[in-house]
Amino acid sequence: MSKKNLKFNSKTIHGGQEPDKAYGSVMPPIYQTSTYAQSSPGEHKGYAYSRSANPTRSALENALASIENGNYGLAFGSGLAAIDAVIKLLSPGDEVVATDDIYGGSYRLFKQIFEKFGITFHFIGMEDTTTIETYINKNTKLIWVETPTNPMMNIIDIVAVGKIAKKHNILLAVDNTFATPYLQTPLDLGADIVMHSATKYLGGHSDVVVGALVVKDKELADKLYFIQNASGAICGPMDSFLVVRGIKTLHVRMQRHCENGKAIAEYLANHPKVEKVFWPGFKNHPNHTIAKSQMKDFGGMISFIPKGANYDDAIKIVEKLEVFTLAESLGGVESLAGHPASMTHASIPKEEREKSGIVDALIRISVGIEDENDLIDDLKQAIG
Ligand SMILES: *Cc1c(COP(=O)(O)O)cnc(C)c1O
Repeated sequence: MSKKNLKFNSKTIHGGQEPDKAYGSVMPPIYQTSTYAQSSPGEHKGYAYSRSANPTRSALENALASIENGNYGLAFGSGLAAIDAVIKLLSPGDEVVATDDIYGGSYRLFKQIFEKFGITFHFIGMEDTTTIETYINKNTKLIWVETPTNPMMNIIDIVAVGKIAKKHNILLAVDNTFATPYLQTPLDLGADIVMHSATKYLGGHSDVVVGALVVKDKELADKLYFIQNASGAICGPMDSFLVVRGIKTLHVRMQRHCENGKAIAEYLANHPKVEKVFWPGFKNHPNHTIAKSQMKDFGGMISFIPKGANYDDAIKIVEKLEVFTLAESLGGVESLAGHPASMTHASIPKEEREKSGIVDALIRISVGIEDENDLIDDLKQAIG
């Protein structure tokens, strides 16, 4: 059978991948080189300088394009470098409508770097997509969506936003870091650009910082490739190798992340000392119907508020956890816990933070693939 129309669980292993041309190595060799021998000026085997292209990075970029159902993948030195490249498609005077409850680093990049260059960002709640149009004018060039949102786990209807973007001829970019293509493929739902912090689930082992973009359209890919090469924030060969390796088990890891996530979300929801749990798999989650229609399952990212807790109480709980590691980041095989107000979202002013529901007592967990009972026991002892 041809490798063309593989199912997702095979694409993670074979998609865009071929044995290496030199010796048939099944995994792409780590081409740890900056340059390539030329037989005559300008005559080479497709690679001239590793900022422009590197075979190990190409292997990763092909794998990324395949799992996201796109045609072109681009790998960057971090998720933020990938976002930076997208915003560089714009010019001074352009405007962006972005989800309000986004990754803190994305907010900081937009507000503190790109606003200085004359680009305006409108941060709005997008659970009700009809509000988006009120922020669109002739200068609007990009809609930036993150779903599920971080850390409130709101779900945004990608198909509905895609229709608005098409109608006004605006690009739609979706940060698919939390969901991964195992759960949703935004390019199939109307997005033009998919972005990843491959540092998280795609890498999956908390051992790299890598970013990615995937698109279908050749012209858009060419523009992004030009920016990637001109600005230079590329992913190195060793990190490319590690993410290719990570992607090969994405589907099995995600399945377990989802199973453990469900068990823990339900445990927390029934805990007498827990006020509220944010997880899109609950039937009473305000966007559950959309989550069900655009996602295959509900993932392992959960936020919760302990009953009657303040800033210090939340910190005490995360400090007490033993199996969960108190750390920034998410999406690795190990379970992590974080306190958004003092960690991931500390760069967002308190007032802005609280507008999107990120109260001082909120705790965010990235449920890993350990035995679910060990994770539940750990939460039990920490919450008390
Ligand atoms: C981590 C993260 C980023 C930033 O990616 P880096 O690889 O840390 O630069 C962007 N978006 C989301 C949703 C993230 O979790």
